[in-house]
Amino acid sequence: MSSTSNVLMRLVASSYAVAEKAATITRNVMSSGDLGIVEKTGANDLQTAADRLVQKSICTSLARTFPQITLIGEEDLPTEEVEEALIETAQYDEILKYTCPQQYSHIKEEELVVWVDPLDGTKEYTEGLLDHVTILIGIAYKGKAIAGVINQPYYNYQAGDKAVLGRTIWGVLGVGAFGFELKEVPAGTHIVTTTRSHSSKLVNDCIAAVNPGKVIRVGGAGNKIIQLIEGQASAYVFASPGCKKWDTCAPEAILHAVGGKLTDIHGNAFEYHKDVKHMNSAGVLAALRNFDYYSSRVPDSVKQALVP
Ligand code: AMP
Ligand code: MG
Ligand code: MG
Repeated sequence: MSSTSNVLMRLVASSYAVAEKAATITRNVMSSGDLGIVEKTGANDLQTAADRLVQKSICTSLARTFPQITLIGEEDLPTEEVEEALIETAQYDEILKYTCPQQYSHIKEEELVVWVDPLDGTKEYTEGLLDHVTILIGIAYKGKAIAGVINQPYYNYQAGDKAVLGRTIWGVLGVGAFGFELKEVPAGTHIVTTTRSHSSKLVNDCIAAVNPGKVIRVGGAGNKIIQLIEGQASAYVFASPGCKKWDTCAPEAILHAVGGKLTDIHGNAFEYHKDVKHMNSAGVLAALRNFDYYSSRVPDSVKQALVP
């Protein structure tokens, strides 16, 4: 089956298996007790041994199976030999049973750009807020996020010994998203999910303008999109620079695959071609339903402060 499947579905199937290996690496680093924390631009921008090992694992594994794709990972790492133990060349065959949408069936490997956030929510990982952490592999074609994998290595970690630890969510535009149960916040209820460690006056002014009944402050872009698709929050509002393309590519593809929308704070679509600026300078706005309502509430003062 795999040899006849097209490159997009094979890449998603490989990304799923690679993300599961990444989850094991993430848990192993935590249980080793030595996180190897390095400050990048400051105390709110951290890198751990898990970020480093997982990026090596994901990028080397995918490059081995798909030598022509462009891979862009968050971490700036020295080029060095990667141990075989970090490499995963298996694929999750279940994904190959789905038919690739016709518009993606002739994609060539070299036309795909893969955005990798080896650990999203690193600050929360170092603080023991383990279910905020995700591993993000986003796939773009012609500048658009078309498929993605989100692994949550600590899903169920407080649910008792019998619960399966960790899960992988995947999605492709035109196919759907899988690995979770789609739920919506009740109509008319406005629950905003936003950053817990990168707040600012602008971030809070924008949230206030939405007039939500509740605000949830959690780490991670992947985690916040999971809240939207599982009915825990109705909008993700982040009126600030800080999120990068590797934070939004996989979450955007999965949200769009179930009919939601993710853009910058102006409502402009993000581009994911290989030469695009990494920083999402004009923030993030996302919702599963009623995106236009949230978009209409963003104050002009916030828009003027955030130049794309
Ligand atoms: P948060 O919602 O604060 O967890 O942010 C979501 C993603 O964007 C995480 O990967 C953060 O590291 C990143 N991010 C957001 N704001 C900043 C910032 N000011 N500096 C560095 N990274 C940021
Ligand atoms: Mg991130
Ligand atoms: Mg990261």
